[in-house]
Amino acid sequence: MQATSIKKRVIGVDIGNAVTSYAIVDVRGNVIAHDQFATPDYPDINRYVEKLTESIVEIAEANGGYEAIRSVGISCPSASHTSGCIENAANLPWKGIIPLAAMLRDRLGIAVALGNDAHNTALGEKMYGSAHGMKNFIVLNLGVGLGSCFFSEGHEHQGAQGYAGEIGHTCLKDDGRPCPCGLKGCLETYVAAAGIVQTAKELLAESDTPSKMRDIEHLDAKTISALCDEGDELAIEVYRRTGYLFGIGLATYASIVNPEAIIITGGVSHAGKWLLEPTQESFENHVFRNMRGKVLVTLSELNDQERDVLGASALAWEVQEYSLFK
Ligand SMILES: [Zn+2]
Repeated sequence: MQATSIKKRVIGVDIGNAVTSYAIVDVRGNVIAHDQFATPDYPDINRYVEKLTESIVEIAEANGGYEAIRSVGISCPSASHTSGCIENAANLPWKGIIPLAAMLRDRLGIAVALGNDAHNTALGEKMYGSAHGMKNFIVLNLGVGLGSCFFSEGHEHQGAQGYAGEIGHTCLKDDGRPCPCGLKGCLETYVAAAGIVQTAKELLAESDTPSKMRDIEHLDAKTISALCDEGDELAIEVYRRTGYLFGIGLATYASIVNPEAIIITGGVSHAGKWLLEPTQESFENHVFRNMRGKVLVTLSELNDQERDVLGASALAWEVQEYSLFK
């Protein structure tokens, strides 16, 4: 009788507009090996799939063997988990509908699952990160914009058109800052990267307090948080105001969804305590009272370089095992 061996590794692939990253990940979320190549170097989808296939087999053979790989998970913008296709991605080189999961499965001979990046980031937090063991939680990506994904009773809530979780475009202020989405006063225009810079400019204009921000021609959210570290009072005030408004937005979100945790990822989350502490304080002051003190509002603990491939690998564990070689 042939013994059934349990395969303890998967491959996570993150397809970005600039770079395709891929890694071997074990059951505990350890990244065994990783590498990358430039996505735009392969404008022909067949050549791209060929390159990805070669890369996966190569990294597996060099690190414990291809036979140890259970499945592959892929994160990609505009990806449909249901169809396994990339559908009309705006910024990727391949137009129309690309049945990527099927194309890759045919070549690799093992199961391949495809999902969009927001969903996979949340799955990564559920499997390896701060949402471990949770059924109801929100994962936010705060950077250039503010996106989110939330899980309800262990499953992602997607909504009728798949747009659930667009907290960035909920109205925080009537007739407020104009948003690229066409609305005014969206939460995103106050708490995402450009909004933080705008708040800084408003503060600089309304006060005489000395600040190094006055000497910087092109301010950005990262520079402002670095100035917080140096003790710049006005820079700290920028994040205090940002956190105050962010806390209001998250309190509204939590009051509707009632999550166990809200986990913040993305470039702006690197501001650390300067953002987190005022956000938590404002959150507690605005959330429905029966949830007060019960919702964990925190920053992701996953390594930034690894988060995307870990999220993709979490999807790989969810897909049913399949092998051409059995
Ligand atoms: Zn908007």
